[in-house]
Amino acid sequence: MDRSLSNELHTEASVHLVGGVNSPVRAFKSVHGNPIYFEKASGAIVTDVDGNELVDFVQSWGPLIHGHAHPSIIQTVSEKMQNGTSFGAPHLGEIQLAKHVKKRFKHMDKVRFVSSGTEAVMSAVRLARGYTNRDILIKFEGCYHGHVDSLMVSSGSGLATFGIASSPGIPAQTVATTLIAPLNDIEAVEYLFQEHGDEIAAIVIEPLPANNGLLIQSTEFLQNLRTLCDAHGALLIFDEVISGFRFKDGSYGDLCGIVPDITALGKVIGGGLPVGAYGARDEIMQHLSPIGPVYQAGTLSGNPLAMAAGLRTLELLNDEAYDQLEHLGALLEEKVQHVLEKHDMPMRLVRLGSLFWFSPGSQSPPSRSDMIPKDAAALYADVHHGLLERGYMLAPSAYEIGFIATAHEEHHITGMVDALDDVLLTMRD
Ligand SMILES: *Cc1c(COP(=O)(O)O)cnc(C)c1O
Repeated sequence: MDRSLSNELHTEASVHLVGGVNSPVRAFKSVHGNPIYFEKASGAIVTDVDGNELVDFVQSWGPLIHGHAHPSIIQTVSEKMQNGTSFGAPHLGEIQLAKHVKKRFKHMDKVRFVSSGTEAVMSAVRLARGYTNRDILIKFEGCYHGHVDSLMVSSGSGLATFGIASSPGIPAQTVATTLIAPLNDIEAVEYLFQEHGDEIAAIVIEPLPANNGLLIQSTEFLQNLRTLCDAHGALLIFDEVISGFRFKDGSYGDLCGIVPDITALGKVIGGGLPVGAYGARDEIMQHLSPIGPVYQAGTLSGNPLAMAAGLRTLELLNDEAYDQLEHLGALLEEKVQHVLEKHDMPMRLVRLGSLFWFSPGSQSPPSRSDMIPKDAAALYADVHHGLLERGYMLAPSAYEIGFIATAHEEHHITGMVDALDDVLLTMRD
């Protein structure tokens, strides 16, 4: 595929933007080649500046559950835009989206909208600390919660690729109040509570860790976190920025039968515009300004265009939409697994609903980051490159998951699997 214009733009971009990008994982550092510059996108397809069309399984890293430029979402936002792009004042759209969020996250009496997943988690942590009057957090190796200072420890995602455990620029005191435990290991968490029980404000976890591969946790482990929090007066914060609204039967907490204290959301609830949210029961939310003392604010929070895009996205997520996502996901899982086995590849497909991951190694899927074979990236880079050349775009990192949207059709899936078959054949030669 000719990518000369993309490459030219990348050269120019690199003069003006750090590494040519505004978010590190877009830089294609862990796979072959340069980033691809997009011109436009529609449904399952993105078109790059050289006119190449790609079937997209990244979908802006999660927000676009209905695919790119869904006509109804575009129309809603276009209409809203005529009334103004930002009010800095309350409006109906905030109430409507809050109602939709509360329908799914039943433990929330109140919702607060912000503009990114990072902001949602950062604010949830501040609220938990303010509410409990304690400082210490427990987070898990391989969970990513946005680039929140206190949670930028053992974070996975782009960081897993770059091999950075933490980041320069974060004061040692800031991370000194963050305790790290391995995922799916309740004894490690029990030990931390034994040592620091009455100082722990909250456990922060992606109940479905999806930023360092897809590391499915045992329900029992997650339920035990709930029990430990209750026993020690700590809050349980579920970061459902990526898993929220991905499953027909409710939140990921619902699927595990767990009610967290605070849930952080993002991605899908913005329908492709910048939105994050967090919510909890009244007793906790009353600590938030303007009612309570915990301060949190945002110039563009509850932005009318973002609320409208989010609302339309959630309205379109009816049972049929979820059934279709599940159908496509199951098709992808079955076909990919078959091709991987046929070529005897040391790789498996891990999937839950519309989220999937090419898990390195032939063993059962990992539930902790240290169970992922260290040489994962090299093999994935070849697969990624081969699929890209054949018109199929997966995430440019072995540790990032793939996303199916309602805009995908069966032929996009079977086409990708045929391309994979071909890639693996050439890799064997
Ligand atoms: C993407 C993500 C975030 C950060 O959201 P941004 O909108 O990128 O700031 C936080 N937590 C999880 C689980 C995520 O997947």
